[in-house]
Amino acid sequence: MNGNGAPPRVGDASSGSAASARTRLERGRGALGPALELVHTGRAPTRAVLTAELGVTRATAGAVAAELEALGLIRVDSRPGAGGAQGRPSHRLAIDENGPVALAAQVHPDGFRAALVGLGGRIVATAPGKLTVSEDPAQVLGAVVGAGAGLLAETGRRCVGAGLAVPSAVAEPDGTALNPLHLAWPAGSPVRAIFEQCVKDAGIDGPALAGNDVNLAALAEHRHGAGRGAQHLLCVATGHRGVGGALVLDGRLHSGSSGLALEVGHLTVNPEGRACHCGGRGCLDVEADPLAFLTAAGRTPGPEVSLLQQARDLLRDGYGEPAVRTAAEELIDRLGLGLAGLVNILNPDRIILGGLHRELLYADPERLRAVVADRSLWGRSGGVPILPCTLDHNSLVGAAELAWQPVLDDPLGTLGTAA
Ligand SMILES: [Zn+2]
Repeated sequence: MNGNGAPPRVGDASSGSAASARTRLERGRGALGPALELVHTGRAPTRAVLTAELGVTRATAGAVAAELEALGLIRVDSRPGAGGAQGRPSHRLAIDENGPVALAAQVHPDGFRAALVGLGGRIVATAPGKLTVSEDPAQVLGAVVGAGAGLLAETGRRCVGAGLAVPSAVAEPDGTALNPLHLAWPAGSPVRAIFEQCVKDAGIDGPALAGNDVNLAALAEHRHGAGRGAQHLLCVATGHRGVGGALVLDGRLHSGSSGLALEVGHLTVNPEGRACHCGGRGCLDVEADPLAFLTAAGRTPGPEVSLLQQARDLLRDGYGEPAVRTAAEELIDRLGLGLAGLVNILNPDRIILGGLHRELLYADPERLRAVVADRSLWGRSGGVPILPCTLDHNSLVGAAELAWQPVLDDPLGTLGTAA
């Protein structure tokens, strides 16, 4: 099911002979990856747009599209366009609904989730798993990979690889979770190596990669959601606990020298504030996360649903209550202070907010924008757009992007058989 399947059927999807398609493809092979990325991110809905975006001839674009179709990645629909008076084929390009998937996994303080994610960031199947996250990363990752393997067996889909999102900075090149503060995992756990082993043990082919959950959310939002088209995209989000940040520069995650950039959770936003697990005081991490909100509103969190869900519910249903409104305003002001500092340093062209921060933006967008504008040098001069994240499960979709990346870089090399 997950093996390297049938050889590419070069030429059988195009009108010309296999030989002439092959000749065109030789010229266009370098364009396969860029072409797939354009379709993957929704920027090439038709073959005409693909031709223009790639800057190649129509014949080359046709061969490239046909090859991607033969690899089972996209579909080229050449039925006459509905509105075309001449009945001229529109050659619509779409993701192949039955194409391969990536296994995506996410671990957070309240449990884990596995999903299968196709091209285009589409979640094909998902299996939530509730558990008290064990102190042993191997046990948790074994369980989440097992859930993903179950989904693969049920759906019979070909798998290109696996990606994992964790609520910790992931140091490169070792793939270690440096500060899984809200999980009981030991600092420095080699999560990528453990995940790789679990994936291998489950009989799943392809690469197994791991990254920080907010980094991966930002990547997914840049490709498929609220970050599309931004050149300097700043993402700030709460998970179930804590606060993270990410920067996507010209389509690539800015990771710093060893994968640890944008650790925004430990910006000081309240010098007199709560003690933070980092040793500091008044960090965004403990002043603007779901627990901070529930506590500020005078609520004692219960064990039934996640802290994030409890905070969301309270913000949506209890906003009329003065204590809830005051707590929300307090968090908005602290978040705004943190964002203002980041705006001055990073000069982003867009900010997107996820988790509870998205809900705070919905609750009082004017207040948040005003704090950022008042407190930042660059925010004042016209303002940086601040938008809510739009994807469901964006960290999972981002985890899948890790596994899809080798295919996006070289579709034929990863999915075709060796010539
Ligand atoms: Zn801190």
